[in-house]
Amino acid sequence: MKILETQALKKYYNKAENCVKALDEVTLSVEQGEFLAIVGTSGSGKSTLLHMLGGLDVPTSGKVIIKGKEISQMSDEQLTIFRRRQIGFVFQNYNLVSMLNVYENIVLPLALDGSRADSKYIDTVIELLHLKALTHRFPNNLSGGQQQRVALARALASKPAIVLADEPTGNLDSKTSQEVLGLLKMSIKKFGQTLVMITHNHEIAQLADRIIRIEDGKIVTR
Ligand code: ADP
Ligand code: ADP
Repeated sequence: MKILETQALKKYYNKAENCVKALDEVTLSVEQGEFLAIVGTSGSGKSTLLHMLGGLDVPTSGKVIIKGKEISQMSDEQLTIFRRRQIGFVFQNYNLVSMLNVYENIVLPLALDGSRADSKYIDTVIELLHLKALTHRFPNNLSGGQQQRVALARALASKPAIVLADEPTGNLDSKTSQEVLGLLKMSIKKFGQTLVMITHNHEIAQLADRIIRIEDGKIVTR
C-alpha cells in the first residue's frame, strides 16, 4: 500500500535576483513499511524534500499526499494534529531535555499532546532500542549513540506511521551509526512503520530497502 506520495513537487527559493530550484518536479511514492534512503550532495534538496514530506514547509507547487490525504488541503490545526499522530521526526541533533530522564524524554511528546502512552508499546520500543537499563539516566550522562537511541524512541512513542529522519547518524562514528540504524530498522520493521532517511553515509544507506539520489532538486535514480 502506498503511504506517502509526492506529485510534481516544486520548491523555489528567491534569493535576490536568483531563483534557486531546491526541488524541481519531484514525483515519488513510498510503500507502507518501506525503508527509503535519500542520498545526494550538500545543497541538492534533500532537507527541503523531507520538510515538505512532513508538512513543515509549503511547496511552491505540486502535491504531498500522506495516507491518501493531500496535506495542503488541511488547515494548520488539522496538519499539526496529523503530524503529531502520524509522523515521527529525527534530526542530527538529539534535542533531548536535560532536566528529564530518558523515560520522561521518550514520553514527553505524548504528555504535551495530552495522549495516554501505550506503555506496552513504549516498553517494547525501549527494549528494541536497548534502552532498558538507561531509563532513569539523564541525557548528560549518555554517549552520543545512546542519546540518539533515546531520540529515536521519542520519535516512535506516538506510534507514528511514518518516521522522517534527517542525517540521524551525522554526529556518530561509523560503528555506532551501524548499531543505531540497525536497531531502528528492526523496530520499524516490527511495527510496519515507514522510514524515510536522509544520509551522507553510504554504508548506512545500504541498510535501506531502496535508495534514491537527488541532484539539483531532481531524483536521478530510483
Ligand atoms: P540538502 O539538504 O541536500 O543539503 P537543501 O534542501 O538544504 O539541500 O537545499 C537545497 C537548495 O535550496 C540549496 O541551494 C539551498 O541553498 C537552498 N535553500 C534551502 N533552504 C533555503 C531557504 N530557506 N532560503 C533560500 N534558499 C534555501
Ligand atoms: P506501568 O503502568 O506498568 O507503571 P509505565 O508506563 O508507568 O507503566 O512504565 C513503563 C516502564 O517504564 C516501567 O518499567 C517503569 O518502571 C518505567 N518508568 C516509568 N516512569 C519512569 C520514569 N519517570 N523514569 C524511569 N522509568 C520509568
